[in-house]
Amino acid sequence: MQEIILIKNGELALKGLNRSSFESVLVKNIKRRMHGLGKFVITRSQSTLTIEPQDDSFDMEEAVDRLSRVFGIAGFERAAAVEKSMDAILSAAPEYLRDVLSSLHTFKVEAKRSDKTFPLTSPQISAEVGGKLLEAFPHLRVDVHHPDIIVMVEVREHFAYIHGNQIKGAGGMPVGTGGKAALLVSGGIDSPVAGWMMAKRGIVLDAIHFASPPFTSPQAEWKVHDLLRQVAKYSGDIALYTVPFTEIQEQIRDNCPEELFTLVMRRFMMRISNVIAKREKCAALITGESVGQVASQTILSLGCTDAVAEMPVFRPLIGMDKEEIIERARKIETFEISIRPYEDCCTVFTPRHPRTRPNLELLEKAEEALPVEELVERAAQGARFELIRNA
Ligand code: ATP
Ligand code: MG
Repeated sequence: MQEIILIKNGELALKGLNRSSFESVLVKNIKRRMHGLGKFVITRSQSTLTIEPQDDSFDMEEAVDRLSRVFGIAGFERAAAVEKSMDAILSAAPEYLRDVLSSLHTFKVEAKRSDKTFPLTSPQISAEVGGKLLEAFPHLRVDVHHPDIIVMVEVREHFAYIHGNQIKGAGGMPVGTGGKAALLVSGGIDSPVAGWMMAKRGIVLDAIHFASPPFTSPQAEWKVHDLLRQVAKYSGDIALYTVPFTEIQEQIRDNCPEELFTLVMRRFMMRISNVIAKREKCAALITGESVGQVASQTILSLGCTDAVAEMPVFRPLIGMDKEEIIERARKIETFEISIRPYEDCCTVFTPRHPRTRPNLELLEKAEEALPVEELVERAAQGARFELIRNA
């Protein structure tokens, strides 16, 4: 008996987009994500994507795990593919479903035939398979209203498929259907979640990280790598640019009023990100900011940061509470990495009394003490590139 994976069109998040180009991107992403698990082919027919392993060594458990992180799939199912005969279906069903059915109490069978030449009607198929399962598992009962599991039998063009409940997918849109944006990633809890949320909308991520050695440690950078590797399990590979930020922070510390340190620093981050993002053909920036979380995230402060951005800045967490962000971070398994204790550049020169109601004039005045363009240019030039692979 061969086991395959079925992804139906009803389980793809198709809204407004050109269906066939959407599907092509999805198929490409699935192929890339399943790389290394063994040989398989993906076919499209009758509004279903079928993933068929081509050798016995194919790792089905790992495939299901990886597939559950591919954006653009709301749900999918593992199924047994058998010859199109009642004998084959009746002998395969109890065997294939043994493990699941042993631990459940009630079930019902639903059958579908897209091949109308099959000798039995759908209700007849359901009745026969139901009878067979009751015989094989005497502890089971049929419950047509609230069954623990719906056993599906689908008679299609080449094979009959038998499967149980659907496996939940990651939802969203296939990465690559929404263009590319640059995520400003710190080692904190928020920015990896922000990146994940935008990747879920189909956006390819590049990442920019500002590091201030020796004030920030190599461990802080490894942490960012680990965070991005985790996000990449959903988003696919991420190009990371690590920007040398020490000189700029020192200049700010030595030349600007303390209450403006953080905001001036954030404006530098934006300016440098503009340069890198444009060079890498990103159409927007992404940050993990949320209104009111810290002094630099009041709406006035965010306005001052936006004033130097030369492209849209997406802040998908803007209206979320910390608790909600943490819950999401736990789900995508970035939380445990984020709470490792290493210093971020933001905490290096934190003002004792940051200004929460800044105005642009004040900031622009403070920045006159610095060779802004030169510093931005040098930092952007000095950015180090690494490809973070989804491994
Ligand atoms: P996070 O948990 O993402 O670090 P935060 O609540 O600590 O966020 P801040 O430190 O004020 O907030 O940073 C706000 C946003 O600015 C971050 O979400 C991130 O997008 C960006 N950012 C902060 N520090 C860095 C950094 N070192 N490199 C790149 N981006 C950064
Ligand atoms: Mg932070």
